[in-house]
Amino acid sequence: MAKTLTIEGLVEKILGYAPDSDTEIVRLAYEFAKDAHEGQTRRSGEPYITHPLAAAHILADIRIDPVIVTATLLHDVPEDTEVTLEDIEKNFGSDIASLVRGITKLGKLKYRGVERYIENLRKMFVAMAEDARVMLIKFADRVHNLTTLGSLPPQKQYRIALESLEIYAPIAGRLGIAEMKGQLEDLSFRYVYPKEYARVKNIRTEKLQGKEGYIDTVRTHAKEEIASAGVTICSIEGREKRLFSFYQKLIRKDNKMARIYDLVAIRIIVPSVADCYAVLGVLHKVWKPVKGRIKDYISQPKPNGYQSLHTTVFSENGELVEFQIRTEEMHEEAEFGIAAHWHYDEKGGRLPKKQIQWAKELAEIQKDILNNLTDLESMKVDFLQNRIFVFTPKGDVIDLPDGATPVDFAYHIHTEIGNKCGSAIVNDNIAKLDAALKNGDVVEIIMDKGRKGPNPDWLSFVKTHTAKSHIKLSAKNKKLTGWLKSVLPKK
Ligand code: MN
Repeated sequence: MAKTLTIEGLVEKILGYAPDSDTEIVRLAYEFAKDAHEGQTRRSGEPYITHPLAAAHILADIRIDPVIVTATLLHDVPEDTEVTLEDIEKNFGSDIASLVRGITKLGKLKYRGVERYIENLRKMFVAMAEDARVMLIKFADRVHNLTTLGSLPPQKQYRIALESLEIYAPIAGRLGIAEMKGQLEDLSFRYVYPKEYARVKNIRTEKLQGKEGYIDTVRTHAKEEIASAGVTICSIEGREKRLFSFYQKLIRKDNKMARIYDLVAIRIIVPSVADCYAVLGVLHKVWKPVKGRIKDYISQPKPNGYQSLHTTVFSENGELVEFQIRTEEMHEEAEFGIAAHWHYDEKGGRLPKKQIQWAKELAEIQKDILNNLTDLESMKVDFLQNRIFVFTPKGDVIDLPDGATPVDFAYHIHTEIGNKCGSAIVNDNIAKLDAALKNGDVVEIIMDKGRKGPNPDWLSFVKTHTAKSHIKLSAKNKKLTGWLKSVLPKK
């Protein structure tokens, strides 16, 4: 078992990478959450606070901005306790409160069947669009939940693991957070495909047996050659590849490839791009490269931005070994992706390293993930541009065009609700029927049972095709009835 995680340990970790940060607020958040969750336990029987604390540790381990770590401590408070978001805002300010709010919104919908699945995805897109930092908290939350799945009933284990594998991990991957993607996949793997997990694990153990010394020899040899060529090495390490990605590779290659280079790679980090190519040259001079396995992701990055040089060589006594060569910056980006932008930066405090074009990236991400889902025929993938996502009071997600109003929302839910739409409550406040809805609004329609039909004036502000056509149709019908009344003989 891992050693017990403490708030002291968390503060220490944070001070390790963010020496000037306000750890008092971290402690306060911990005490606050601990009080709020007082008396609650996890399925495992442990006090509830162990969960947000562990999730916070997961983010601190990858040196994430202490503000996000603090919000992580509070992430389950509004959903599971009497304490409200307002209380959190009063105590911790609006930034932390809005992060917690994002997480709380994500938590309301549970995965049930394909429809829920898609809704769940949409919900995540809303959260990402609003504040991508929320996703980091969600990933950490999920990683910890997966490590404690053992105490849940099997069906629930399966559901949570499947959702993590099919929704969370791809999103983490698409955001370029390889570290989180790998953790999510490897933790879910054994619950979703238990037999395959056992098999793959055995293969790995078998193949790696007695190879540790071998990898080390190759590593040392490479190190000497590179040094004598005059290139500085920041680090050179052998690393085991992730189990789930190994499994996927096995499937792709018809179970035929289970060589050591599928299991271990040697990663070399050097100061500059020129050094990367220099190292590649050195390696190829010493060992013969395998044809077709030299990949230059530096000049041609992967779609998620991944950069590195890869090569597989025939090393000592003919065994194949893969090398990955990259700069520090590429490494940071590869492991943490967008999360790297919220790494605590000692010099400038917390500063996104570069502007992320969120709207654009998001559209791509949606397309990507949705394309990988089955049964897409029935789904429109047109909610890419200028869409807003609002919620029903039950937490279902409705996507509407930008500028949509409560009337559009009402018609989207049901024609009758549209036709009898009386007034609207948006985020607990009465709203005008022509008010433009905003991303993340919770909308409730109050029906006016006495209403005969839609008001033709609504045509001046509704945005959706559905609403327009129903209002027009109803106006036409009214005219028709009026005309019929006028021409038909009176009783
Ligand atoms: Mn949680």
